Amino acid sequence: MAAPLTHALKPVASSKKISSFHPPQRTLMGPGPSEINPRVLAQMSLPAIGYLDPVFVEMMEELKTLLRYAYQTDNALTFPVSGPGSVGMEACFVNAVSPGDKVIIGRNGVFGGRMIENVQRAGGVAVVVEDTWGEPVDPNKVEDAFKKNPDAKIFGFVHAETSTGCQSDAKTLCAISTKYGALNIVDAVTSLAGTPVLVDDWGIDAIYSGSQKCLSCTPGLSPVSFSERFVAHVKARKETVHSWFMDLNLVLNYWGNTNRTYHHTAPTNGLFALHEALLLLQEERLEGAWARHWRHHLALKAGLEAMGLTYLVKEGNRLPQMNSVYVPAGLPEGGEAQIRKTLLNDFNLEIGAGLGPLAGKIWRFGLMGYSCKAENVMLCLSALGSVMADMGVAVKIGDAEAAAHHAYAELHKQAALEMTAAKQQLAA
Ligand code: PLP
Repeated sequence: MAAPLTHALKPVASSKKISSFHPPQRTLMGPGPSEINPRVLAQMSLPAIGYLDPVFVEMMEELKTLLRYAYQTDNALTFPVSGPGSVGMEACFVNAVSPGDKVIIGRNGVFGGRMIENVQRAGGVAVVVEDTWGEPVDPNKVEDAFKKNPDAKIFGFVHAETSTGCQSDAKTLCAISTKYGALNIVDAVTSLAGTPVLVDDWGIDAIYSGSQKCLSCTPGLSPVSFSERFVAHVKARKETVHSWFMDLNLVLNYWGNTNRTYHHTAPTNGLFALHEALLLLQEERLEGAWARHWRHHLALKAGLEAMGLTYLVKEGNRLPQMNSVYVPAGLPEGGEAQIRKTLLNDFNLEIGAGLGPLAGKIWRFGLMGYSCKAENVMLCLSALGSVMADMGVAVKIGDAEAAAHHAYAELHKQAALEMTAAKQQLAA
């Protein structure tokens, strides 16, 4: 017998019929998320199991091992936070910063700004080291800030600024904070698995990333890793951590090694997916993933430059996985946004716009994880050339593709020469 109906229920209020959602198949070449490897996607549709199921717990241990490889660390406390990169960022700051703590932050783009907000919301005092957007965090300025603020306890910066495509020298910056006895917090949301991130070698104390960029997993998880120094700092805090969900002392009861107990309902299928994404990284090996990002960056760069586009970031500081170029001069009003819209509507291609002071001035081309492949590079160059020509930009159709093909051919030639030399060395 059905339960008696005691209320007049409200109907689904919608002016259109709602059916199952089927997203279009897009080529994702924006600042993230990136495309997802089919092996990773398949994991999302596996049957759910309990988050304390012994089989799941075994998988969690493997996940931590694989993450240690990705981060190149022996840190015991290395695990994925349940939440996007922003939650990883907040977890680092809310655990590290007690009210009144002085924290030096290097800001050279949007995400350094978010770090400042995190410091202030945790009750800390942010000392900001400003650098121009598109330039790296300047180690000399950071050193000066430490000299002027010897009581600073923490230093934070973004390794790979997604808003500009610029990479900062994490090794040098971390060495400065260690020299002044401060803990460092590093944002590796866009760098992990795209360019080297060597947590132990570089003396990183706290680091967070995101699942949806060069790891090519579904969004919503944030791999973190903490040094023993950082864990000791959190344990020695006098004030309780202001966030219950992110308090490392509590999360450890679930992600630690022994006597796991309930903390929150882990996103089990998302974690299956991250396990697969990290397995793919282990199969390709870090060196392979870094080399792939570099190779396709060179081809994309050759094509973009052949169309007359110039990079925002100086060579040497550029991230291969995040290519920012100035939009061409002389576009009609609204032309920049119109080009992105046409790429999306006519070519199913997503690219990124500029943010903050760079809004309307740059385009950002992501080459991250599974999106980092020749077919995306060639589609992007061909589609962009065609749409720009339609808008009256002086580009010669085909030049960009030819330049990219040439770059690939040079790389293949170089690889063949290296292979022959290696074989000769083995035979000798
Ligand atoms: N930090 C950087 C450098 C990022 O690029 C992003 C997102 O793009 C974040 C933090 C925040 O990550 P999420 O959007 O996953 O919360």
